Amino acid sequence: MSCPDCTHAQAIKHWGGFHASCHGCQVRALATGPAHHTAMQANAMTPAYRSALQRAFGEDWRAAHEEVKAEHERIKGMA
Ligand SMILES: [Zn+2]
Repeated sequence: MSCPDCTHAQAIKHWGGFHASCHGCQVRALATGPAHHTAMQANAMTPAYRSALQRAFGEDWRAAHEEVKAEHERIKGMA
């Protein structure tokens, strides 16, 4: 669920480190990535964003989408 990159990302807004095997990092990667950005702007589940979710999280992609939204809000709220 968590790793050193996740710990750093709690304190540093534009932390660029990710562990491919870490759930928290996958959520953060999507929350800061272009597919999610486009979906937010369209206010819709775009095909690109949905397939990115499914690639990263498989059958849990709907739950992961909620985590991605929460992570996006958290990062946005950071100074
Ligand atoms: Zn991590």
